[in-house]
Amino acid sequence: MNDFDVIVVGGGLVGAATALALGQGGLRLALVEQAPPVPLPQDDSWDPRIYAITPGNVDFLRRLGVWDTLDASRIAPIHAMSVWGDDGQSRLEFDPYEAGVAELGCIVESRLLQDGLWQALQRQENVDLVCPARCATLQLSVDSARLGLEDGRELRAQLIVGADGSGSWVRRQAGIDVTTWPYRQLAVVANFETEKAHDSIARQWFLRDGILAWLPLPGNRISMVWSAFEERADALLQLDARAFCESVAQAGQHALGMLRLVTPPAAFPLRLQRNDAVMDLKLALVGDAAHQVHPLAGQGVNLGFRDVQTLAVTLLDRGRRDLGDRLLLRRYERARKADILAMQAVTTGLQKLFNNDGPWLGWLRNTGLALTDRTTSLKRRLMARAIV
Ligand SMILES: Cc1cc2nc3c(=O)[nH]c(=O)nc-3n(C[C@H](O)[C@H](O)[C@H](O)COP(=O)(O)OP(=O)(O)OC[C@H]3O[C@@H](n4cnc5c(N)ncnc54)[C@H](O)[C@@H]3O)c2cc1C
Repeated sequence: MNDFDVIVVGGGLVGAATALALGQGGLRLALVEQAPPVPLPQDDSWDPRIYAITPGNVDFLRRLGVWDTLDASRIAPIHAMSVWGDDGQSRLEFDPYEAGVAELGCIVESRLLQDGLWQALQRQENVDLVCPARCATLQLSVDSARLGLEDGRELRAQLIVGADGSGSWVRRQAGIDVTTWPYRQLAVVANFETEKAHDSIARQWFLRDGILAWLPLPGNRISMVWSAFEERADALLQLDARAFCESVAQAGQHALGMLRLVTPPAAFPLRLQRNDAVMDLKLALVGDAAHQVHPLAGQGVNLGFRDVQTLAVTLLDRGRRDLGDRLLLRRYERARKADILAMQAVTTGLQKLFNNDGPWLGWLRNTGLALTDRTTSLKRRLMARAIV
């Protein structure tokens, strides 16, 4: 039997950050991941999966000693954001000076950030990387959390953290229920070279049949996330490269001229997922295991990193004693509730408001955008939420 303070299951971005934050706080950890991360390719290709990381979370990753190790030439700052309504004219502009920050966030490739986190973990002597490994059994009792692996190894800890994504095995073993609402949309992602400079502006269009985002990458490149209803997404994915580029350029009002595909499109199903709980005796959930939101606000992994920060403060304040205590973990759950509920409400509300054919909704959403643009205090509040 191997004994630890904490076992983290899942070494994606959120699980890896959890293990690093708790490891740096002096706890002894095991990180169990089923699939080792793929090494960074040596060519100059771009990952179609990118993240908009908020300034607050850039600071968090910097404090973990990860952000400044990433190749800066592959990271793009967001200097401003423009959002259009479906009448093609109503517009909402976000400027970092209004929020009192230098930039609204940074765009980084998933694999670059994942690699940076794992490199840091490999230097962290008090974190055992148990990978590749598959979980077989979980027992939660007043004494400990015991995890059995398929290869026969057994791990024991005061606390197990489920960071194993939206279909979380840990959550299912603990019997925590979730309610899932499929949006009936797929997020189609792809990277392009653009004819015109993007000027570090993130652009978003709330279309009647989906939400299109163009996020700046270094140079004349953008990363697209088009959350489109399933039939539309399927039709897009059937197009040849030329027709696909033209459809994307047209949906974005040719704001950056002609587009050239640099990574083939990929698609991810979208859904909202609400957990009945994010803790139990000896157990805490973080990241997509604890909540799933629509990517229209680019907040999924950002919410996850905020879970990690709150959990780390809660546990490290306690020292190394009784980390699986129900009252302690309830404190974590309470501290995260408002942020998670607010993000789920905002993303689902916007998706429903815009991807809907009701006749008066067209007027409401476009007038709402224009009014929000003119209402400084509301804009400040929206920005304050987007940059934490
Ligand atoms: C198209 C799209 C665009 C997005 N863009 C953004 C964005 O710009 N900004 C943003 O903040 N968020 C964004 N998101 C959301 C973001 O992708 C997720 O919130 C984030 O990846 C969740 O990370 P995670 O580590 O919690 O889970 P995951 O990334 O799912 O990682 C889970 C890990 O657990 C491992 N695992 C699973 N089961 C087991 C098991 N039984 N045993 C061991 N290991 C296991 C998996 O191998 C994986 O490594 C986007 C989502 C989509 C679909």
